[in-house]
Amino acid sequence: MKQRRMKQADGTDGRLTNQRDYLLGRRLIWADFVPTPRWDHEHCAFCWAKFGEYWQHTGYCTLDRYYWICEQCFRDFREEFHWIVEDAREARDSETQDN
Ligand SMILES: [Zn+2]
Repeated sequence: MKQRRMKQADGTDGRLTNQRDYLLGRRLIWADFVPTPRWDHEHCAFCWAKFGEYWQHTGYCTLDRYYWICEQCFRDFREEFHWIVEDAREARDSETQDN
């Protein structure tokens, strides 16, 4: 299968919008997406891939599980965004202490 071209004519990546405003340097965990009755899926912040029961189940997310990033986008943007990947359990503990 031919790989989809992500680069636009001006050289920028078509997946990038304003993610820097909320994802630059964030701490991320590798997590299972757990659907709730109110919210059965999430989208990758970059390529809009779906996470959920019927789509991919795991991905990277911010500690509050608000923003999700698929594995492919994580690989593509990790250097640019300087993410800090933490162990999910340790992250939860330190997050509690911060608050
Ligand atoms: Zn993605």
